[in-house]
Amino acid sequence: MAHQRIKLALIDLSGTLHVDDQPTEGAVEALKRLRQHGVQVKFVTNTTKESVGSLFERLRKIGFDLQRNEIYGSLGAAAEYVKKNNLNPYYLLTNDARTDMPDTDPERPLDSVVVGLAPDRFCYEHLNEAFRVLHQKGAKQKVQLVAVHEGRYYKAKDGIALGPGCFVKGLEYSTGVPAVCIGKPNEYFFRSALPDGISVEECVMIGDDPNDDCLGAMRIGMKGYLVETGKYQPEMYSEENRPAVSDIFATFSDVVQHIISCSDQ
Ligand SMILES: [Mg+2]
Repeated sequence: MAHQRIKLALIDLSGTLHVDDQPTEGAVEALKRLRQHGVQVKFVTNTTKESVGSLFERLRKIGFDLQRNEIYGSLGAAAEYVKKNNLNPYYLLTNDARTDMPDTDPERPLDSVVVGLAPDRFCYEHLNEAFRVLHQKGAKQKVQLVAVHEGRYYKAKDGIALGPGCFVKGLEYSTGVPAVCIGKPNEYFFRSALPDGISVEECVMIGDDPNDDCLGAMRIGMKGYLVETGKYQPEMYSEENRPAVSDIFATFSDVVQHIISCSDQ
């Protein structure tokens, strides 16, 4: 069967191209090869700990050749959501991530909570503030809980680390307010990352999260390629419950090799 030529690669960042300040093996060169092969790239990330500007600077510093406007993040998508719905949120975000979001208006009552990965905000005091915003009765507008994403965990340089998902679920549990999830694996997020003129069949998603990256993208018809450089731990799976992704590769570089060799056939 002839392979569909890949025109666009959506690429996850943390755990796929880098882990903290280390590129994954061969990733800097592989990204160059992919571009030279004429494949467009877009970096799709649920990273919410830092602003797009900080993330961009960090990736440039560790050797990646990219443009700031090639990063499509759930934080930016959440900022759009807040503006579109004219929300006045209480933010459970880091100070850096806050710089990507609209300011809170002190003249208006708080009507929503926005949650991203914010280790220094996930203490009782701040979570209780968030709880009180969501629990208020008689609000003219319905209160909203906005999850920038609901990641369970991610790979940090000292090991696996807790994501924001359990805090989102905790707030849902205590208030009965269901969260609106913005980032991966939301279908809307993947569709809005696709530029005009490119079909889902011409696009692949490459990431280290079987569900949020691969299965999310596969639900709208893209291929989802999983890499083993991040949070995915093969030893946690047996042959029977192996994630049903399009394919699994050791590194991002191996995926690039596969894409190039398929398009040459
Ligand atoms: Mg990742």
